[in-house]
Amino acid sequence: MTVLSTIASAADNPWDMWNTTTNPQTAGAFMGVAIVTCLIFALAWFIIWILVAIWVYKDANKRGKNGVLWLIIVILLGLIGLIIYLVVRGEKTEPSRHCPNCGRGIPEDARSCPYCNKKFEE
Ligand SMILES: [Zn+2]
Repeated sequence: MTVLSTIASAADNPWDMWNTTTNPQTAGAFMGVAIVTCLIFALAWFIIWILVAIWVYKDANKRGKNGVLWLIIVILLGLIGLIIYLVVRGEKTEPSRHCPNCGRGIPEDARSCPYCNKKFEE
């Protein structure tokens, strides 16, 4: 109630709201409003981020990638992780596997290199 009454009294003289150095009570109310606003934004951002993470997880699985791995990358690296994912995701035609013998891009399920005929152990 103190916060609300302080805001009400500050509303009588709006300039007091910004005069935080001489009126510590108003400063406290202003900080309270700022913190609540920050929390609402943080919560909204958090929900959006969860939705993005779920989308990355599903999208990665759909493309035959490791969904859990990308989920962790996006959560840990945040926006940078998402950008990395979008870049990697865009290169759909680019093979992620390379021949250890000649270094060329080869299909994910290839048992031997189509270029140098090198056989793989797996
Ligand atoms: Zn090769």
